[in-house]
Amino acid sequence: MKGIDQRVEAFEGQLRKAGLRMTQQRRLILRVLAEADDHPDAKGIFTRAFAHDPTLSLSTVYRTMKVLETQGAIERHAFEDGVSRYEHADQAHHDHLIDIESGTVVEFSSPEIEALQAKIAAELGYEIVRHRLELYGRRLPTAGKRRKAQG
Ligand SMILES: [Zn+2]
Repeated sequence: MKGIDQRVEAFEGQLRKAGLRMTQQRRLILRVLAEADDHPDAKGIFTRAFAHDPTLSLSTVYRTMKVLETQGAIERHAFEDGVSRYEHADQAHHDHLIDIESGTVVEFSSPEIEALQAKIAAELGYEIVRHRLELYGRRLPTAGKRRKAQG
């Protein structure tokens, strides 16, 4: 897990490596991305950045994010609502539970699930290189306050 300035720097490095010129607008997009601690889609990033620079276009945001995704700096999730959502690729591994009513994305990690997946893969003659686990759920009426809710 990195600080925001370090993240912006790392993103800048990725864009330069991909041959993109660093502009004021790209720097703004990178900062907004670095500050996001949820799972925003490109429009969400655009809306946040647009508040600082109303000359910004959605296509600039798309292009910038596409490059970062290709470089592996941000990770894209295609949850069932059909919208591509993004998060920083520098976080510890975790899985997601999506609230089907509110769209809230809840992060979790479970050593038991990780171990079970490795065991199943090994029994099938594989080692796991990566995995994605998405749970879709409806909140129980008896549930208490949400632990860590993200949009
Ligand atoms: Zn996440």
